[in-house]
Amino acid sequence: MRTLVLAESDHGAIGDATLRVIGAVSQRGAPLDVLALDAKTANAAAQIRGVERVLSGSFDSMETPAPETLAAQLHAVCGSYSLIAAAHRPLARGAFPRAAALTGSAFLADVTGLANDGRFVRGLYAGSVLATVASESALTFATFRASSFATVEREGGSASIVTLDALPAFERTKLVERQATQQAGHDLSTARIVVAGGRGLASKENMARLGALAERVGAALGASRAAVDAGYAPNAAQVGQTGKTVAPDVYLAFGISGAIQHLAGMKDSKVIVAVNKDPDAPIFSVADVGLVGDLFETMRELEAHMGAR
Ligand code: FAD
Repeated sequence: MRTLVLAESDHGAIGDATLRVIGAVSQRGAPLDVLALDAKTANAAAQIRGVERVLSGSFDSMETPAPETLAAQLHAVCGSYSLIAAAHRPLARGAFPRAAALTGSAFLADVTGLANDGRFVRGLYAGSVLATVASESALTFATFRASSFATVEREGGSASIVTLDALPAFERTKLVERQATQQAGHDLSTARIVVAGGRGLASKENMARLGALAERVGAALGASRAAVDAGYAPNAAQVGQTGKTVAPDVYLAFGISGAIQHLAGMKDSKVIVAVNKDPDAPIFSVADVGLVGDLFETMRELEAHMGAR
């Protein structure tokens, strides 16, 4: 049985997360197809190494289809697949459970590993327990945590493209407007360095100082939920269970205690550096480098050091 990956693109450019999902499911060795929502994305998907066939939907490349419409599309094409996969992002998180319900199939969310026997690994209790799950369903819909998997080459393939018939759009809800939230600096989900601040920063102004430091080293600025709730940082900067999941090369945490819900979003970072005045702060249990001390002193030293360069 074949595997189908739902591709996400930005005006036809396939996203890194989709390439990582393709990397993840390639391990199964099953023939691999991609579902592209529009013709431009289909052309890009056909170039990806290892893809055999691209199913091209006729959605408008500027619009995101309603989850109900996408679920109906998945229902229409699911016949020859045992696994339909996508990145654990809003598009699939909305459509996959609906498609699973329509087809009477299994749905698994936020998969972080695939075992050799085809079982799935996923976190429970904010990532503090790893569950290995066997799907008993002939077809499984699964969203994958892209940062846990290696990417594949976006070129070198020559898949055939099959154009799908248009489906009637779901009309009970209508997307009226999309507005990108303005966030200065680097993109949190793809940055190789993340500098994050918590309640210990004590003010919006101090968070802005940390943001300036982050900018100097080419890092994205992240924040704990307590810092976001206090208005020190925008919602888009929140890292954790109910924020973004990041796995950069380096994660620097300033004044973050390390609550389990925060760790769930950053503990897969390759090197974790924590600055906290409390030697018993849980963040030190995951830190590779820990500095027990006043974060403001550390920030002043870093600012002085960078100013001198
Ligand atoms: P605190 O826990 O208050 O820690 C502040 C730290 O700063 C302390 O360790 C203190 O020692 C240190 N500090 C203070 N002053 C200084 C100083 N001058 N120098 C050095 N260190 C200093 N949280 C998230 O972050 N992300 C989530 O997605 C998230 N989702 C949640 C979902 C649910 C359902 C629930 C219930 C909670 C969630 N939380 C989340 C909240 C989480 O439980 C914590 O409350 C939050 O992470 C705490 O943020 P903090 O570490 O900034 O604040």
